[in-house]
Amino acid sequence: MTTLNSKVPKGPLKDKWTTYKDKIDLVNPANKRNIDIIVVGTGLAGGSAAATLAELGYNVKAFCYQDSPRRAHSIAAQGGINASKNYMGDGDSDYRLFYDTVKGGDYRSREANVYRLAEVSGNIIDQCVAQGVPFARDYGGLLDCRSFGGVLVSRTFYAKGQTGQQLLLGAYSAMNRQIARGKIEMFNRHEMLDVVKVNGKARGIITRNLITGEIERHSAHAVVIATGGYGNVYFLSTNAMGSNATAAWKIHKKGAYFANPCFTQIHPTCIPRSGDYQSKLTLMSESLRNDGRIWVPKKMEDVLAIREKKIRPNQIAEEDRDYYLERRYPAFGNLVPRDVASRAAKERCDAGYGVNKTGEAVYLDFAAAFQRYGKEQAKIHGISNATNEKIIELGMAIIKEKYGNLFQMYEKIIDENPYKTPMMIYPATHYTMGGVWVDYNLMTTVPGLYCIGEANFSDHGANRLGASALMQGLADGYFVLPYTIGDYLSDDIRTGKISTDTPEFDEVEKEVKDRIDFFMNNKGSRSVDYFHKKLGKIMWDKVGMGRNEKELKEAMVEIKAIREEFWKEVKIPGDKNEMNLELEKAGRVADFLELGELFAKDALDRNESCGGHFREESVELEGEQKGEAKRNDKDYAYVSAWEYKGEPSDAVLHKEQLEFKDIELKQRSYK
Ligand SMILES: Cc1cc2nc3c(=O)[nH]c(=O)nc-3n(C[C@H](O)[C@H](O)[C@H](O)COP(=O)(O)OP(=O)(O)OC[C@H]3O[C@@H](n4cnc5c(N)ncnc54)[C@H](O)[C@@H]3O)c2cc1C
Repeated sequence: MTTLNSKVPKGPLKDKWTTYKDKIDLVNPANKRNIDIIVVGTGLAGGSAAATLAELGYNVKAFCYQDSPRRAHSIAAQGGINASKNYMGDGDSDYRLFYDTVKGGDYRSREANVYRLAEVSGNIIDQCVAQGVPFARDYGGLLDCRSFGGVLVSRTFYAKGQTGQQLLLGAYSAMNRQIARGKIEMFNRHEMLDVVKVNGKARGIITRNLITGEIERHSAHAVVIATGGYGNVYFLSTNAMGSNATAAWKIHKKGAYFANPCFTQIHPTCIPRSGDYQSKLTLMSESLRNDGRIWVPKKMEDVLAIREKKIRPNQIAEEDRDYYLERRYPAFGNLVPRDVASRAAKERCDAGYGVNKTGEAVYLDFAAAFQRYGKEQAKIHGISNATNEKIIELGMAIIKEKYGNLFQMYEKIIDENPYKTPMMIYPATHYTMGGVWVDYNLMTTVPGLYCIGEANFSDHGANRLGASALMQGLADGYFVLPYTIGDYLSDDIRTGKISTDTPEFDEVEKEVKDRIDFFMNNKGSRSVDYFHKKLGKIMWDKVGMGRNEKELKEAMVEIKAIREEFWKEVKIPGDKNEMNLELEKAGRVADFLELGELFAKDALDRNESCGGHFREESVELEGEQKGEAKRNDKDYAYVSAWEYKGEPSDAVLHKEQLEFKDIELKQRSYK
């Protein structure tokens, strides 16, 4: 085992990034024109990086598998983006955002990166406003903010429930300007299937044109991976169905260490699963927890009556409801972080209090908010003696204004009016804090190979706070990578074009083609989804919200067995030289089947509970925190970075020891 060098600059935390920027090597504008950069992925991280690098003068080649960058999974982000601008005057600061993020991540992130994130967060909002992103504004026209879980201030900027879409349109228009100038060459419907290294440095990629099936070589002086998270290893998740880990996994196999794979976020407010034939889960934004109260009935007879549809939730008296988050966590109430809220929902449902047919749902109820806002509105409009109906009507109008599209989405999926009956929600896989290990420069363990956005192991430690992923992706793309990559590329100004006509490209292209031919010629009998679902079930049952040694060991064996069956039995119809969705999925699921096993191995190694990783063996047994997750800083205050050695079970662990100089390590309490 080796110790990893995170390359964090020396000096006081608050000066590190400024001093770093003052000292790095720069590339002059004329030389930038001779340097090529590949950016794989054009979601918020890749899109912002591609646009900025091109604006700086580099020649960018950008790739995505959708038909347009506008369709990246980032478009799904609903709730908002954090920034420590303190517009609400409620005591926010860079330090507080930094502190909340490190604490929210259960002290498993790198201090220096998180502080830098907080420092540049304000710039992101300015940049996006300049691009025309229509953030919500208050009555006076100033940017509005709301609060999200795990914090005591309002620092989340939002555009109704469509923040990701609006931010992506901003990044996309910045990209388009550069596409029009010829500084970005855009390759839609292209999937990166491997990376090419020359003399140890990343110098290109191999892609498949998803329309024609053509295999192509692309070279550059540096390669940036911005391909999103791997939540779909669970099969069912809130991620876009195409989200996958192939690019990240392929670079892992070529030398990039993979960090903290077991750190996954299970989001508490998703629409519950409805049956076995479902292929996707839907998120109800965390912003709803600002105004919605979460509860289950206190009495078992009420639970049963609800399940049998003998009574409706609205008929249950206030004193017979268990607002379990408010009861257990009075300081943060319904706004506890996601990991805490998810586990609490699971605890109630495991105890038998779930309110839908399968017993896997709790209520998210807006009745109190209708009253609160309604009474305020009645006062504002000078309506004295307003009836209860009028108050509710006025309150509903405010909720509609804030979350209207989310309510509409819920009604379309569940066919029940959430203004009249409380929403039903249950936790679902949502985000991956783990990912490709990167140093302070966002460079992987392969020189010249960078990783940004959700694809890297990121700044969120063991649990990401709401509205922080968009902040991190855009910080990486707009404000961090454009500096750090220049420092590296300053050594490449005399290199000249990288040829693709070399043995290194020949070799990797052959590997890619062989794999495709294998899939096309395999005479199996099972669809790709058959294996993906089997994998997902093991991941959810044994590597999901609660994990223990016995089941993790079983999961590793079972995943390996599915993998072996997959390679024997998978069947791909159609042709390789045409659009072939089954072929695309086969490659992605093959990678998930390896990643899943490493995930379980990582969870087994980390015999502590922290953030989204809950080891049933590591629980507080006494005192106020009884029953809560128990972290173990003495033995596990490190980032696990795994080196590929063939079989996932043979991966070698490298540790990046985490140092906490500006934050005192404390037990995370939201009570
Ligand atoms: C429903 C939902 C709501 C969310 N809401 C919020 C929110 O309100 N606030 C917040 O902060 N976060 C939110 N998140 C999280 C956030 O949206 C994501 O973490 C973030 O958008 C990821 O951005 P990204 O650029 O890293 O990756 P993505 O947006 O996933 O983009 C990945 C890109 O990589 C490309 N790609 C992938 N593999 C390949 C390949 N092999 N070859 C070529 N291209 C490839 C894709 O085409 C795509 O362009 C939400 C997530 C979900 C699922």
